[in-house]
Amino acid sequence: MTGRVDGNLWRTSSAVHVEAPPLMADADADLVIIGGGFTGNAAALEAARRGASVIVLEAETVGHGGSGRNVGLVNAGLWLAPRDVVAQMGQDAGLKLIGLLADAPKLVWSLIERENIDCEATPNGTLHLAHSTPGLRNLEERHRQGVELGAPVQLFDALETARRTGSRAFYGSLFDPRAGTIQPLSYARGLACAALRAGARLHEQTAVKRVERIGDRWQVMANGHTVRARSLLLATNAYFKGIDIAVRPQFVAVNYCQFATAPMPEPLRAEILSGGEGCWDTALVMSSFRTDKEGRMILGGIGDAGGGVLRSMPAGPGASCGRCTRNWQGLPSSIPGTGALP
Ligand SMILES: Cc1cc2nc3c(=O)[nH]c(=O)nc-3n(C[C@H](O)[C@H](O)[C@H](O)COP(=O)(O)OP(=O)(O)OC[C@H]3O[C@@H](n4cnc5c(N)ncnc54)[C@H](O)[C@@H]3O)c2cc1C
Repeated sequence: MTGRVDGNLWRTSSAVHVEAPPLMADADADLVIIGGGFTGNAAALEAARRGASVIVLEAETVGHGGSGRNVGLVNAGLWLAPRDVVAQMGQDAGLKLIGLLADAPKLVWSLIERENIDCEATPNGTLHLAHSTPGLRNLEERHRQGVELGAPVQLFDALETARRTGSRAFYGSLFDPRAGTIQPLSYARGLACAALRAGARLHEQTAVKRVERIGDRWQVMANGHTVRARSLLLATNAYFKGIDIAVRPQFVAVNYCQFATAPMPEPLRAEILSGGEGCWDTALVMSSFRTDKEGRMILGGIGDAGGGVLRSMPAGPGASCGRCTRNWQGLPSSIPGTGALP
């Protein structure tokens, strides 16, 4: 599984392109958004569709942050089990978030269809894999909590899990049919194109340097120009960089890296994830794997892309897929953080 590595697969395999010149003049808008990932582009799309004038400023290119680097699992919940979400957020907010996330894949699939986004959408479910006996106990408890909340989740034994994944390394799995996978960079770019079609303005290579509140307006400085707007959305997530602003987002940086093989030959594709599910496991130092439309195996794990991550993964299906030709990494987030700017 080692060999030459050649950067982020999603950048090579994306067929979606965005036209977004740098900011070259002062501008006014109802809403200015800093950050061109899922958050910024989805917000721009919705606000523009409701008639607002919107400007998105992205320091690099659309999907430069987590949105263009992630595993592409379209999940119906968080890493945390429902009970832990309620314990952290309180009953009302926790249950509200769980309900919203339960419907999130449906929203993603419908957006992809409505906006005709070419992003390898595969709504075939996800498998949360037990890497150990305690991992299986954890999934049994998640299954119990999920069913209690009306989720259509199913618990599979080791045999069925091996039939689906092509690996006997797992003790069982929790299948969520609402979930699935996408090509995440294509999805981020597709949202940006949809926002542009809806009338939003988007500027790449436009790193915001300073944000000030003057009267009832935000003044956002980038590329030597100023954008003035009544509302501001700071959508920089863990990629927040170089902005002089009163309140900074708080996060703990943890790397997650991924490796992709060359397309697998047909016999292997028939054995490994032939149902197209996306997978991750119950280990504290988590691993993930999935395939893409060309039949590449894409393996991920917490850590940076030095190669040690691959050695520490359970002997999953990756063991038989051949050498990796690409790797990349990024900064994921666990529980969404939102807040109002003063
Ligand atoms: C390796 C990895 C795997 C993951 N796997 C999954 C998964 O399978 N499923 C899932 O649901 N989630 C996953 N996540 C999390 C998911 O990717 C993020 O929650 C999501 O992409 C966040 O989107 P965002 O738009 O909020 O932020 P980002 O996509 O991080 O976008 C922030 C943007 O802000 C821009 N920016 C920063 N500073 C400035 C500035 N000064 N001026 C202008 N622009 C600026 C950055 O360039 C960046 O493009 C994963 C994340 C990573 C990194």
